[in-house]
Amino acid sequence: MDLIFYHGKIYMERDRFAQAMWIQDGVIREMGSDAQILQMAPPKAKRIDLDGRLVLPGMNDSHQHLCMVGEHQALCDLSNADSIAEIQRRCKVFLETYPDIQGLHGVGWNQDYFTQGEKRPPTRQELDEVSEEIPIVLERVCGHLSSGNSKALELAGICADTVIAGGEIWKDAAGMPDGIVTENACSVLDRALPPMDEQQLEALYIQAMELAVSQGITSVQSNDVSSRNYTWMLPLWKRLHAQGKLLLRYRHQCCFMEPQKYAEFLETVWTQRDQYDDMLSLGPLKLFKDGSLGARTALMRSPYQDDPSTCGTEALDQQTMDTLCRMAADHGQQIVTHVIGDAAVEQTLNSYEKVIPQEGNILRHGLVHCQITDAPLLQRIADMQVAALVQPIFLHYDLHIVEDRVGKDLAGTSYAFATLGKLGVPLSLGTDAPVEPFHPFRNIYCAVTRKDLNGYPPEGFFPAEKMTLSEAIDAYTIGSSYAEFKEDRKGRLKPGYYADYIVLDRDIFTLPAEELLQVQVDMTVVNGSIVYQRVI
Ligand SMILES: [Zn+2]
Repeated sequence: MDLIFYHGKIYMERDRFAQAMWIQDGVIREMGSDAQILQMAPPKAKRIDLDGRLVLPGMNDSHQHLCMVGEHQALCDLSNADSIAEIQRRCKVFLETYPDIQGLHGVGWNQDYFTQGEKRPPTRQELDEVSEEIPIVLERVCGHLSSGNSKALELAGICADTVIAGGEIWKDAAGMPDGIVTENACSVLDRALPPMDEQQLEALYIQAMELAVSQGITSVQSNDVSSRNYTWMLPLWKRLHAQGKLLLRYRHQCCFMEPQKYAEFLETVWTQRDQYDDMLSLGPLKLFKDGSLGARTALMRSPYQDDPSTCGTEALDQQTMDTLCRMAADHGQQIVTHVIGDAAVEQTLNSYEKVIPQEGNILRHGLVHCQITDAPLLQRIADMQVAALVQPIFLHYDLHIVEDRVGKDLAGTSYAFATLGKLGVPLSLGTDAPVEPFHPFRNIYCAVTRKDLNGYPPEGFFPAEKMTLSEAIDAYTIGSSYAEFKEDRKGRLKPGYYADYIVLDRDIFTLPAEELLQVQVDMTVVNGSIVYQRVI
């Protein structure tokens, strides 16, 4: 099947554009001027007039949780709740709407957005007021802290003397669990919830893909697989692929925190990795070293400025991390690790250093988030050629709290996207959806302006760290392709590359950065097929 896109402004690389592009069998065959391409392409080719619009390579979100985005559509939405009372109200409405549910799973609340009452997570007693019959688990927006009611604690087996490595169970004055748990204790609390059935999940994942392509995403590197679900999650995605239901390219980031489980995965799945292809691929081992800045569980070298009683939570002890990294390296599997605090960055580099061979970081191990850093750490990341998978959209919330949490000095060398680029660190962009929405152009807006979505602060947060528009686009496309070893065939508009691209409603190269927030995607093409077209 031949397709011609002509009369456009097609981004090839910084300051270089083509007018027309000839697509054949999912791959870009030729690019050039309208006259050249219209003349050389076969007469039967389908022609699409771009009407002068801008075409970019499709966005490749280098770290998010697509399945969770899908699942959240079926859960109780608590985003932007302004108080604990509002959380209780929304939960009650949800229960009235779905009276037959066996458990209430809520997501998206953030106590820093409360404008009434105390700015703290809801407790067990407050959730018992909603229901004492069914388990209730309410995840904070970051996914690193949850509140549960008494029924949930009971079903999860969490009591006064429960100890969970790499997680905390908060206690009340009487020494009883108050319902709030962090990090690894969150997954224990989740066990109180009934599982969704696979058919429902498939439908939700397809909806999540539809949402992603409508916003201009053509590839995701998604962390959905874990030791708890890989035996059904991997076959589910294979099935979607075999049935032709993939709307985008999907790469698994596989989370295993226990050596025994990881060994099983290496034996049964990793040895079969040639069953995968460029639409559905098997990616890195995904580890968590720490938590989130919002929940004060990011692992810091010094105590938090706004809570000196804590340095955060180590979600994975160093010895286990060394073991997992050694196993991955021995099997030729890349590693990416969730690191937010400076101690988490440092300790993860220590583990990587032990497994990176003389030739350098050939498996392209990476740091996901890579937020709180000082200058020597940034230099060390560069020297080790470790990749950074960053989320500029996090600035929208974090720029309001980071100085309180870690102090102004350290804040000034954190979220150091421009510096990382200048030091030659391989950079890619993502959103960590559903922590933030997929919307790539909001993410790019934060990268180039370093303002929140309301335009604060006017000069940008530590403006020396602004990326240029081309740098941000390149990190989102070719940079993300590098993170998955596909930079020779994906992430650029160039002959021989996959025909994965998007048509925008406006030319972002000629407009003020504020307009990035209004960008609409008119069309999304994956592997030469139009997977989304905006109804105008
Ligand atoms: Zn994540």
